Amino acid sequence: MTGNPLLAAALTAAERGWRVFPLLPGSKKPALHSSARCPRTAACTTGHQGWEQRATCDPAVIWRTWSHGPYGIGLATGPSHLVVVDLDTPKPGTPLPVGPAGPRDGAGVLAALCERYGRAYPSGTYTVRTPSGGTHLYFAAPAGSGLRNTAGERGTGLGRWIDTRAGGGYVVAAGSTVAGHRYEAVLDTGPVPLPAWLHTLLAPPPRPATPVVPLSSRAGRRPGYADAALRNESANVANAAEGNRNWTLTRAARALGRFVADGRLSRGEVEDALKGAAEQAGLPARDAAATITSALDWSIAHNPAGDAA
Ligand SMILES: [Zn+2]
Repeated sequence: MTGNPLLAAALTAAERGWRVFPLLPGSKKPALHSSARCPRTAACTTGHQGWEQRATCDPAVIWRTWSHGPYGIGLATGPSHLVVVDLDTPKPGTPLPVGPAGPRDGAGVLAALCERYGRAYPSGTYTVRTPSGGTHLYFAAPAGSGLRNTAGERGTGLGRWIDTRAGGGYVVAAGSTVAGHRYEAVLDTGPVPLPAWLHTLLAPPPRPATPVVPLSSRAGRRPGYADAALRNESANVANAAEGNRNWTLTRAARALGRFVADGRLSRGEVEDALKGAAEQAGLPARDAAATITSALDWSIAHNPAGDAA
């Protein structure tokens, strides 16, 4: 059809109803101007339009864009009604869990999650292999799901080495090349609907109700191991090696969230202890606070009161 493989790949994506926009050649960055540099002309005459607004399935616009230069293909997941699960591989030099068992990459974390929830590994959907050896699993988003991006390292998603792209996100589409390596569709089929159990895990947690039970009234039934867990997890965070600190903090907050969920520790004391430990480890206070909040929210949402061991 065309001797321009990037144009062909962009048109193929658009035929599926996926909305695309240009990336800088060889890069993952949008080739569109930022709001700070908006000239207020053309598409932006009535106000700046970002990549999510300008992403399109219009073949005429796609022809015009990709005839102009060898742009990579950005695929805006939200307006394409997609949720893309990005299974990453550890960056070189990342400390891995010790012992023979634990998962070593995003695919392993997802497999462990499937086992824990008694679900089949979600295969059989449109799949792209990324240059780093990672995998993008494309799923049709449930109508009106309102799902947003999640990031494994921030404790907001499915686990370490797994990001998800939905509203507000984009992926580099098949056929694009970044730093000389191509994104390849390794299973070129339609995206299957996002499995309901993954949807549940990805839905933003409800704001947890602040415990109203005063500390003094439950002092009598506060078990020693809750205090021990608080001390141990705080020590893990304070002593975490650089490169592993944020994940250690996420894990600690998730572990302690179980005790918050059933009232054995107060949210305030867990937050204070972990913030202090994160400071000792040298993590920036604002990042640490955000990580603690999202990991505690996640844990409390996943550990209904009374369900903890
Ligand atoms: Zn603009």
